[in-house]
Amino acid sequence: MTHPVVFLGAGPGDPELLTLKGRRLLDEADVIVYAGSLVNPALLTGVQAEIHDSAGMTLDEVLAVLVAAQRAGKKAVRLHTGDPSLYGAIREQMQRLDREGIGYEVVPGVSSAFAAAAALKAELTVPEGTQTVIFTRISGRTPVPERESLRRLAAIRASMCIFLSAGMMEQVAAELMAGGCPPETPAAVVEKASWPEQRIVRGTLADIAEKVQAAGIRKTAMIVVGQALSDEPAAVSRLYDAGFSHGRREADALSPHQQSFQETS
Ligand code: SAH
Repeated sequence: MTHPVVFLGAGPGDPELLTLKGRRLLDEADVIVYAGSLVNPALLTGVQAEIHDSAGMTLDEVLAVLVAAQRAGKKAVRLHTGDPSLYGAIREQMQRLDREGIGYEVVPGVSSAFAAAAALKAELTVPEGTQTVIFTRISGRTPVPERESLRRLAAIRASMCIFLSAGMMEQVAAELMAGGCPPETPAAVVEKASWPEQRIVRGTLADIAEKVQAAGIRKTAMIVVGQALSDEPAAVSRLYDAGFSHGRREADALSPHQQSFQETS
């Protein structure tokens, strides 16, 4: 009997932020290949599997381990930080497995974007404010298409979770301001979100780079930018509004404002 290779989201660091399914898959695995630089090794305490750290391995080497394990009828897990669908480089691995005719599945995890939002106690979508979140990064060794440059995305004024970019905080802030985000736009950086050593730096686009540099933060950090981080009083979500009916609750009586909302939605 063969088992599909599993691409598993390890979550942001705290071992309790691994899914129950993830915990079971790690405990049942025969072979685990994990990204040693980011995945918390505490997740692997007590597992029976043979463990490989992909930090010192090429793509070919990683695939050779996964393919050999799967062909030998073993349970193989490729453990990625956060959620595998974001900057996980799983696509190239899955395409290689396709070519080898090897089955696989993907099990989601808690992205560091959400661990960072939790650390900041932020709601990234704000009623009557922004209803959009952008996951992005600054162009570095991996280029970003010009149409998605931070300067262009800035014009949208959505909440932004910026990965892989804390080492270039000055350019990030400069690009966002050049694209039209006011300098007073709230910005925060969360280093090692959900780890015991988590640190938070809060500021605005005008001063965040300086503060992040003073704190010595360069990597394993999430940049969160947007008006959603401000402490302005929030508009009240219509979800809990007594006059707003949705599937489970009929409106008592509709105010004119809500009537027009219902007509347009
Ligand atoms: N798939 C991962 C992202 C991998 S890219 C996820 O969903 O979280 C690596 C980048 O993720 C880092 O440069 C950093 O920006 C971010 N990151 C990963 N773990 C983090 C953590 N615990 N705290 C803050 N940022 C983290």
